[in-house]
Amino acid sequence: MAFRTKSSPFDCIIFDLDDTLYSSSIGIGNYVKKNIDLFLIEKCGFSQTKASTLRVQLFKSHGSTLAGLRALGYDITAEEYHSFVHGRLPYELIKPDIQLRNLLRSINQRKIIFTNSDRIHALEALDRLGIRDCFEQIICFETLNPNLPNSTRPDEFPVLLKPSLDAFRIAIQAANVDPHRTLFLDDSVRNVAAGKEMGLNTVLVGESVKNNVGDYAVECVNSVTLTKVIPEIWGNRVDEDERKISRTNSELDALLSAYTAVGA
Ligand SMILES: [Mg+2]
Repeated sequence: MAFRTKSSPFDCIIFDLDDTLYSSSIGIGNYVKKNIDLFLIEKCGFSQTKASTLRVQLFKSHGSTLAGLRALGYDITAEEYHSFVHGRLPYELIKPDIQLRNLLRSINQRKIIFTNSDRIHALEALDRLGIRDCFEQIICFETLNPNLPNSTRPDEFPVLLKPSLDAFRIAIQAANVDPHRTLFLDDSVRNVAAGKEMGLNTVLVGESVKNNVGDYAVECVNSVTLTKVIPEIWGNRVDEDERKISRTNSELDALLSAYTAVGA
């Protein structure tokens, strides 16, 4: 059972999945883009050149290609889109990450996934990483779009996804959290900005230097960066006294080593 860490300002940590809990450098994102282009060519009849341009345009205007296509009147179900785009991904590129697992297990607060991806993809990626059981809840495409399978025409229900504020409202309600006591990590600047607007404490993943987007920035989600940049997750407040911070970090290192030693 999750419990609230006494002095931590966060009761819950919400994580994006793709390019946040595994690196974009393994190439899954590029395969997704390639598969979307193929979908636009094979299922919608666009030329190769038009497909890539349209994918970028629809992402900017509607949050995803599926959302854009349906808004334009293409009668494409979420199931056929996701099975085409995600179903053929080389998931073997996502390797078990024991250090990430140990990091997550060292965090006592509730931990929730909030992804635009469909549930099948989310479960597959979490299983490959070996961290599915670290999360209490998965908020995904199906959570944000429960009425989509019942639509009688493509534009009846607009597809809701991050960074739409309505998507965040649904997620905050589904997670039953106080956004001011919740930490949200995502690699998308647009998602982090929207999360901030909704009152969440935000972490931009993939940037080592904090800019004006988000409350924190981390190059990647691992124990070294999180314990250094956001020690308050573990109930340690950032202190002006550097000796106190270094002592705190040593304690966190010891804690994480203990988890590694157990190897669970
Ligand atoms: Mg992401």
